Amino acid sequence: MFNNIDINLLKRYDKPGPRYTSYPSAPLFNKEYTTELYIEDLIKNNENNLNPISIYLHIPFCDTLCYFCGCTTIITPNQKHLDEYRFYLKKEISIFEKYYSKNRQVTQLHWGGGTPSYLNPDQIFDIGNFIKSRFNFSHYIEYGVEIDPRGLTFEHLEAFHSVGMNRISIGVQDFNEEVQRATNRIQPENITFDAIEWSRKLGIKSINLDLIYGLPKQTISSFEQTLDKVIDISPERIAVFNFAYVPWMKPHQKLINQNELPKAEDKLEILKMTIEKLTKAGYLYIGMDHFVKPDDEMAIAQKNKTLYRNFQGYSTNAGADLFGFGMSSISHFSNVYSQNHKSLESYYQNLDNNQFPISLGYRMNQDDIIRKYVIMKLMCDLEVNKLEVEQKFKINFADYFAESIVKLEEFKEQGIVYEDESKIIIGDIGRLILRNIAMCFDAYIDKLIKEKPIFSRTV
Ligand code: SF4
Repeated sequence: MFNNIDINLLKRYDKPGPRYTSYPSAPLFNKEYTTELYIEDLIKNNENNLNPISIYLHIPFCDTLCYFCGCTTIITPNQKHLDEYRFYLKKEISIFEKYYSKNRQVTQLHWGGGTPSYLNPDQIFDIGNFIKSRFNFSHYIEYGVEIDPRGLTFEHLEAFHSVGMNRISIGVQDFNEEVQRATNRIQPENITFDAIEWSRKLGIKSINLDLIYGLPKQTISSFEQTLDKVIDISPERIAVFNFAYVPWMKPHQKLINQNELPKAEDKLEILKMTIEKLTKAGYLYIGMDHFVKPDDEMAIAQKNKTLYRNFQGYSTNAGADLFGFGMSSISHFSNVYSQNHKSLESYYQNLDNNQFPISLGYRMNQDDIIRKYVIMKLMCDLEVNKLEVEQKFKINFADYFAESIVKLEEFKEQGIVYEDESKIIIGDIGRLILRNIAMCFDAYIDKLIKEKPIFSRTV
């Protein structure tokens, strides 16, 4: 299915665009959304609502800076910061608890960062047990943690496992030593192998490895060697992210020697090789950087059309309301987005005043709700049923999306997208440019792209 990818097609669609982990995308979040509005929305959301809950915990600290990093992170060698942060994180959860209906079950929990495994085992126990005591955990919970093998011990994993972790996402990025040196992320392969062996020893059945293509010093053959090692490890999931080189937004990326970045053409060749190699090795390409084994829950969810997309990427937990805790974390429930302060100082200050540390947010209007539905269907199910959309939202699809359908024409002409009476369907090759296809349905995209360079490139 992916054995002869047309590189010119990738080249044509390699342009800036959102990742659609939300719609509208995050640049639309604004300061008009206040803590008072958040409380109003939170109270309404918990009235007579049995919707499951998904929790995201952001641990922003890291030991050293990877030059490619695109996350909201604080580099510190001082473990004391983690204790202070732990205090405030628990305080935020305690404030939230007053509004949360305990009839609602937590079906998903994710620790992201930064580096959650930068916490020591005692700190992990403490936060993990605190959350367990405050929320009603479902018997079946998807409990994931992002792990950096550097500095990791078996005791860290034991601590996460004892508080509920049953899936793990390990940052590898690239096994090649030159690439590691050029990006200031020295990670000898034996420590990655240890992390995987320990996870399996603890019975973790779902292991994801994160890789990045487009890093400095990377070549097609060097990345092929990395992929060979990854295939040998045989993780359940592999995420291969496009390196988002956005030094105007992430100034530390200027530490990368620009001359060492692969040329645009080579980068696309690396992507082509990656997709061909991983699919040949038996992985299914879900779309948007994600490869999974055919019996993985994510593959099954895509088949059953229950796959969902949120700020952690793809999720099998459609329908859950997302509540994020920690500096910069994002929540999404009842057609509302809210984001916490992105600086520790403001995050702590609000909590010192016993206030939610809300910095930005957005209340969706009816048009946003309809477009989000269509975009999520395209990104997750790789098709949208027009008749279903018409019935669900009482609209005429052709009239409502007249402009989008015109934009979609070029994809149809090239056989990337198919349309019949009832459906719009994305063909195999369209999985490589899902963001570009989704952009046809985004009401804000033209204005956002014109205003400032905020998005990474799509391919
Ligand atoms: S460990 Fe992850 S979050 Fe921390 S600097 Fe490196 S890439 Fe960024």
